[in-house]
Amino acid sequence: MNANLVAIFLSRHAGHESKPALIWQGETVCTFGDLPAAIGRYRAALGELGVKRGDRVMVKAENSPAFALTYLAVLASGAIFVPMNPAYTASEVALLVEDADPVLLVHGSATAVPPEGDGLTRATLEADGTGSLTALAARLEPDLAVEAMAETDLAAILFTSGTTGRPKGAMLMHRNLSSNVAALHEAWRFSDTDSILHSLPLFHAHGLFVALHLGLYSAATVHLLGRFDAAKVVSLLPSVSVFMGVPTFYTRLLDRADFDRTATAAIRLFVCGSAPLLPSVFAQFEERTGQRILERYGMTEAVMITSNRYEQDGRIAGTVGYPLPGVELRVVGGTARTELPPGEVGEIEIRGPNLCAGYWRRPEATAEAIGPDGFFVTGDTGFRDASGRVTIAGRSKDLIISGGFNIYPAELEMVLAEVDGVTDVAIIGVPHPDFGEAVVAVVTSDRPDMDPALIAAVATEKLARFKQPKAIRLLEEFPRNAMGKVLKAELRKQFAGLFAA
Ligand code: AMP
Repeated sequence: MNANLVAIFLSRHAGHESKPALIWQGETVCTFGDLPAAIGRYRAALGELGVKRGDRVMVKAENSPAFALTYLAVLASGAIFVPMNPAYTASEVALLVEDADPVLLVHGSATAVPPEGDGLTRATLEADGTGSLTALAARLEPDLAVEAMAETDLAAILFTSGTTGRPKGAMLMHRNLSSNVAALHEAWRFSDTDSILHSLPLFHAHGLFVALHLGLYSAATVHLLGRFDAAKVVSLLPSVSVFMGVPTFYTRLLDRADFDRTATAAIRLFVCGSAPLLPSVFAQFEERTGQRILERYGMTEAVMITSNRYEQDGRIAGTVGYPLPGVELRVVGGTARTELPPGEVGEIEIRGPNLCAGYWRRPEATAEAIGPDGFFVTGDTGFRDASGRVTIAGRSKDLIISGGFNIYPAELEMVLAEVDGVTDVAIIGVPHPDFGEAVVAVVTSDRPDMDPALIAAVATEKLARFKQPKAIRLLEEFPRNAMGKVLKAELRKQFAGLFAA
């Protein structure tokens, strides 16, 4: 059997030929019947540009139907899809290009990319779906073949940063993606009567592997938006059955007076994840809509890991539910990393068909993350209750999640330490009413007249907007432990009220 995820999707569309697969700005882009040829045209375009099985194709573009079709065409070609946040700066992209070693870079012409001349083939894909790749695809006869892949062949590489600051590419196999979408289809009771309002970024696992995949696997229509827009979402909710978001989406929806029982009456499922959902937001949501948000826990390296139960009373605030079928989860502690009894907080480790093959060209990082018994150290801490229900307590990894986006302090610290006059930098996350957490740069300087605007200017030039500090604070000295390590917990306490609502 062909384990190519695209072959699996297409095998499930029989009988739904006339149903819209993708809707964009109120118009049907293609039906399930049109989908093979729509993918096939992009596959032919990729072939013209020299893409072969096993090659990496990097995509740095805004959401559009063409983005989704390009993704599916890369997989159908047996190539490896490498998405990037369109907000990345040219220097951030250059790092990833060097690492992923792609044959083709597909990008929006308004997004920053390194200057040409590096021998890399380029094609454009604009926010409205036009561009040279789309134009080429439109001229070609569809290549309807779907490359035969094994379950363990790579489908995608998604970069996540790390404590070292250098991004690492999580290698997702076809099996990871197909097993996970099948588990979610079951757990969240998807069917061909569903339609999904999709406003998550397609460059992230949440938008690509959860929202888009569930539509394609279930033969359910996906209404794709360029980005989250609370007013647009409220106006479209009556025409769909499922909405997925990050906590920031839900707080923005709750800020609107027209987000109420009437607006949400057609929805059977609201899903939330990628960052902790505050129990107060969960409660406010229930009060306003009469429905409970279903929270789940996942990460790039393992797609979805746990989920609350589907029934309304199985959706519990502040918890992320139970491991998905086939996924093993344990909470360990101590130097021997032994499994802890219920109620005790420790490090969360997981194993299962959802777990990636490791990090691209980083055998040491892979060996550090995945132990000899196959369990992956998530970097999250938490506990299980006697029934096995999981609650996330925090993170052992030095990660900030702002508006659902991950920010790794080490990466920012490296960039800001280069600023003239800066002697040390500590990047921390502090509570923020809208973003969950906000990035704060705390700096020391050997210049009495150090101007934070200088630091802000470098951040603007070198860092994607979502990573740029929302505040910069100068200190004479950092609090440090006996080993000289900066006590970030103390800094977090000191600046906790910066963005108090
Ligand atoms: P990403 O790789 O961007 O999907 O980020 C994964 C990280 O997001 C996880 O390791 C967690 O730290 C965090 N995360 C995801 N879902 C949740 C959740 N429901 N509650 C708390 N943290 C979450």
